[in-house]
Amino acid sequence: MITPAEIQTRLDRILPTVQKPGRYTGGELNQVVKGWASIETHLALVFPDIYDIGMSNLGLAILYELINQRSDALAERAYLPWIDMDAAMRRTGIPLYSLESSFPLSAFDILAFTLPYETLYTNVLSTLDLARIPLFNKDRHETDPLVIAGGHATFNPEPMYSFIDAFVIGEGEEVIHEIIHAYQNWKKTNSLRQDLLISLSSIPGVYVPYFYKVTYKQDRTINLVKKIEERVNFPVRKRIVGCLPPPPTHFIVPNIETVHNRIAVEIMRGCTRGCRFCHAGMVSRPVRERSVEQILHAIDESLKNTGFEEIGLLSLSSSDYTNISELVKTVAEKFSGKHLGISLPSLRIDSFSVDLMDLLKESRHGGFTLAPEAATEHMRNIINKPLSTAQLLDTAHQIYSRGWTTIKLYFMIGHPEETLEDVRAIAELCKAVFAQGRQVIGNRAKLNVGVSTFIPKPHTPFQWESCDTVEQIQAKQSLLKQELRHRNIKLTWTDPHVTLLEAWLSRGDRRLSDVIFQAWKNGARFDAWQDQLNFDAWNQAFTDCQIDPSFYTHRNRSIDEVFPWDHIDTGVRKKYLLQDFQLSQVSITRSDCRQQCFACGILPAFANIRRENPGDLWMCPEVKSPPKAMALKPR
Ligand code: SF4
Repeated sequence: MITPAEIQTRLDRILPTVQKPGRYTGGELNQVVKGWASIETHLALVFPDIYDIGMSNLGLAILYELINQRSDALAERAYLPWIDMDAAMRRTGIPLYSLESSFPLSAFDILAFTLPYETLYTNVLSTLDLARIPLFNKDRHETDPLVIAGGHATFNPEPMYSFIDAFVIGEGEEVIHEIIHAYQNWKKTNSLRQDLLISLSSIPGVYVPYFYKVTYKQDRTINLVKKIEERVNFPVRKRIVGCLPPPPTHFIVPNIETVHNRIAVEIMRGCTRGCRFCHAGMVSRPVRERSVEQILHAIDESLKNTGFEEIGLLSLSSSDYTNISELVKTVAEKFSGKHLGISLPSLRIDSFSVDLMDLLKESRHGGFTLAPEAATEHMRNIINKPLSTAQLLDTAHQIYSRGWTTIKLYFMIGHPEETLEDVRAIAELCKAVFAQGRQVIGNRAKLNVGVSTFIPKPHTPFQWESCDTVEQIQAKQSLLKQELRHRNIKLTWTDPHVTLLEAWLSRGDRRLSDVIFQAWKNGARFDAWQDQLNFDAWNQAFTDCQIDPSFYTHRNRSIDEVFPWDHIDTGVRKKYLLQDFQLSQVSITRSDCRQQCFACGILPAFANIRRENPGDLWMCPEVKSPPKAMALKPR
């Protein structure tokens, strides 16, 4: 095996020849370097895209801090090098290595991939290939690292089933320790890799695809998914933490510019709004909040430890955080005059949000973001994001009146039942918002419009829907481009091919593993980058594998179809999702379930955890029934 010293010597030669060598050196403030030889278990946390993007991933930062608090394990980082560095490394025989110790990834015990979105899949193959680790899990031996993956994309793990040994479904804070424990026990017994996989697959929240068999019907839909090993979980229910642990405070400070150079504090997890297109909102239930004190403490500590000048208070719906006024007021007062940028994403469209942002006036930069997602009240009812147009225009008026010159509006096209008239309504609404700005601040008013495209994601009420075709998307985008021509209106949109690829991969089944491998062989890399996407490589891969991609995205599904992800249990019942889908078809909305619980399934699924974490820690009602074991006791 190549040593870290040899890797360093070769790196010295190539680093001056590549773009942004700071991506590949490590050595940043707050990185953790432990004595390799004295530590029992070595984990490499891998984000399969470049450093500039991966460094901002909060999931990886959480695991890095948690694992490095252990005395018997270390966590180091690895990112996928950009194309120039990849070529230079291959030319000079440098395998992918960790930034902290420069050990090759093949020397680690566990490789843990973070997969927040599906367009990273071919990059996983590039990572393994550059690390000289067998791509297919069936080809790995006892001496190869265990390859695991977690993150939102893994709620449908099937397309990657050939490559990943074990998937973590849900939140990783507790389960990562159980995985390390299982690995350490296995290592001591000197037994087969298969034994390790069995012990992993009995950990709640861990899915080892090897132990499940899928059969198909003649029409190519799934007939059945069943387990073929008695001891494994079925279905595989996601893991959650009952109470959010203290957030990380020792963020690594990059030496080069990255996507977000900031302190990120997750103020709450989960969302009760129930937008029907929103994967994150459905899979991250229940809502759990951090206390204001815990958040303030984390900000203080992180500022001390990093010197960052930006703070992101993160959540899926910040206005819904119970003590948002208190939090924002305190943060604004405490850090006034310190020239900190404080961002508060995902605000509701109302005057309350404008008041909140006004409190953070000092850190005001950029525009004010609103996400109506659809332009007509009818369409907003279908997607369960009820909002009156009058309220949106009134909010826009207030924003421009209070000193913002730019509003950013986010819309989605391709919603179920959407017509070209609904799309035209987006343009009309944008013009109406812009008119508010012109009225208040004249020529200084600006409007940025971001238009993404709907994908019927797994585990959402729209999972039975199909997608728009590329031609339909292009027609809708052309209409918007035509209608929104003004030098102060900036329109951006997602390449329909990127959308389609994401749709195939997110809705795919096991048969897509072959397609992913073939596309990678055909040259697909960095698929999430619009300028790198090689759509021909994917089309060719589908042809090579004799799979029709439209099977995944452009057909109607019967309500009893078995989905590839049905054996992955998010806690939200399929029956609940179906009811919600049917409500969407008659434009009936469901209110925020903080006000009224709709029995989505989360409480029975996690009743014991809720019992152990009573009161306001969760936004779901308390569980009244006794724990199961007690209920079964004879009277
Ligand atoms: S259990 Fe009730 S309150 Fe909790 S997420 Fe589900 S619907 Fe909402």
